[in-house]
Amino acid sequence: GDRTDTLLATDDLRKDFGGFTATDEIDFSVAEGELRCLIGPNGAGKSTLLNLVTGSYSPTAGSVYYNGHDITELAPHKRVQRGISMKFQVPSVYSDLTVRENARLPIQRFADGDERRRRVDEAIDSAGLAGYEDVDASQLSHGQQQQLEIGMAAALEPELLLLDEPVAGLDVAERETIAERIVRLNEERDIAFVVIEHDTDFVASIAEKVTVLHNGEIFREGTVEEIESDPEVQRIYLGG
Ligand code: ADP
Ligand code: MG
Repeated sequence: GDRTDTLLATDDLRKDFGGFTATDEIDFSVAEGELRCLIGPNGAGKSTLLNLVTGSYSPTAGSVYYNGHDITELAPHKRVQRGISMKFQVPSVYSDLTVRENARLPIQRFADGDERRRRVDEAIDSAGLAGYEDVDASQLSHGQQQQLEIGMAAALEPELLLLDEPVAGLDVAERETIAERIVRLNEERDIAFVVIEHDTDFVASIAEKVTVLHNGEIFREGTVEEIESDPEVQRIYLGG
């Protein structure tokens, strides 16, 4: 589709936990095929925002629109069917299952027979784990486990893939591998991404545009260069 078309838009989105407002007045939008990074200090509301988009959390107020449709009340699995997929911050690979068994888990709900087998192979392939099908996930490096999770999320054939800290705890080489996979999925399969990550080299290697959350609100939005050189953004990271 036309790359200027809006894929995701939130309107005045708010989430309270008890008396605490985790996100407030969030108007966040992502275009078709875009690669966006979401940054901000710990507790800024980044994971909460993505969980509101997937439907894991229901908002206290506001709306979520996807491809022009209001999906605020839509169940999470129906959002997956519409094309929204997510790799969560908490690792969700089962260490006592093989790579293939893990890869099958998210897909089995959405496909069967030959289609399921094709998607499982696709998950393993986009994870770069061909040849590791029968290896227990516990034998994979932390980086390979992250790659497996991204492959599993990509095999749901999303239009929008949300990644919550996909390179946390990884070394430079592993980060580069994952950056390349994200860029390739974006270019070859036209998947739009929202990626939560702090590492500035990683952000610069994948994203055109960055959104900064702070205290549950959008603090800044701009190009990687604009955000990196913004003294106010540096200040909030220092606890100001
Ligand atoms: P980030 O991902 O930017 O680090 P989160 O979205 O995880 O931040 O959290 C934002 C704020 O909301 C934090 O203060 C956190 O403690 C709070 N929060 C997040 N999820 C919950 C929850 N399920 N219950 C209570 N408080 C939560
Ligand atoms: Mg988080």
